[in-house]
Amino acid sequence: MSSTRALYEQVILDHNKNPRNFGVLREPDHTVEGFNPLCGDHFTIYVKLDGDRISEITFEGAGCAISKSSASVMTTVLKGKTVKEAEVIFKDFHHMITSAPDAPVDEEAVGKLRIFSGVREFPVRIKCATLAWHAMNSALHGKDSAISTE
Ligand code: ZN
Repeated sequence: MSSTRALYEQVILDHNKNPRNFGVLREPDHTVEGFNPLCGDHFTIYVKLDGDRISEITFEGAGCAISKSSASVMTTVLKGKTVKEAEVIFKDFHHMITSAPDAPVDEEAVGKLRIFSGVREFPVRIKCATLAWHAMNSALHGKDSAISTE
């Protein structure tokens, strides 16, 4: 294992153990539940908007280390961003996570989300890593219903 890889895993484990923005948000503008039946991941994403800017974003629920840390990192990356910026970040992240395991990572585009690039080697885990993102994307588009990866 390379040292970069080990460092990425440390960050993922830290977010799993100490998730950021974890908890129910009071009076959210949007709430979307996300399920990943394949793994049993189940999270609810709460979003509060200030105009077209994400002023608050939190999540709660339970799942594997990948799904939980991905949701946690997502909230830290998207808080304060506009809806349009969030869409671009989601697109860049989705592009990276679904690319071939040996494809180069556009670090400028994905920033700290590159820590999840190792997930590409485990296709079954990709749904874990994208679950919170799909729920967030639904929330930003006002589709406040539950989403499922299946
Ligand atoms: Zn999972």
